[in-house]
Amino acid sequence: MSMDGKKRTSPLPARRAAPEVRPPEFLEKKFDALYAAACAALERHDPCAVRGGACHSMRVAPERHKKYPFCCPGCEHLGAEGCTVESLYCRLWLCEPLERLHLKRTPQGRVPSPLLKELRRLRREAERWGFQVFRGTKQESLAKAARKQKRLAAAGTKPGRKGSV
Ligand code: SF4
Ligand code: SF4
Repeated sequence: MSMDGKKRTSPLPARRAAPEVRPPEFLEKKFDALYAAACAALERHDPCAVRGGACHSMRVAPERHKKYPFCCPGCEHLGAEGCTVESLYCRLWLCEPLERLHLKRTPQGRVPSPLLKELRRLRREAERWGFQVFRGTKQESLAKAARKQKRLAAAGTKPGRKGSV
């Protein structure tokens, strides 16, 4: 306010505060929440429906599984009992037969099932933070997210809307 009581606007652009770089603890909490939400959704809906040593895709598309079962062959994290790491991006992915099953054709277009909707929402959130490392460990995702934070801070950009998970 000036001395004559009139409000003056500065001719200079407002200085933008540098965006805060999220600390590793924040990113880890975010990762854990997303991972838990992904696992809970998969447990609730059981999309792979593994029965008698075969999953949904192996039953409906046996040709594509002739050489390998399930969808983890060749992965360094595959152990005798299955996956040995917290690979967030793998938990947010569905194979093609499952995607087709969860994308219903309707007269209005293709409508994702509640599971696919939920996984897509979580995937967007994971990508927003930079966690997307396919066949990656938790540490690899956290390292990628930390690099993204630094890049955004250096560019003076905020990571976008406020996340829900
Ligand atoms: S994602 Fe597809 S291929 Fe992988 S276990 Fe599930 S049904 Fe099988
Ligand atoms: S990291 Fe992904 S591809 Fe590898 S074993 Fe785990 S779920 Fe399978």
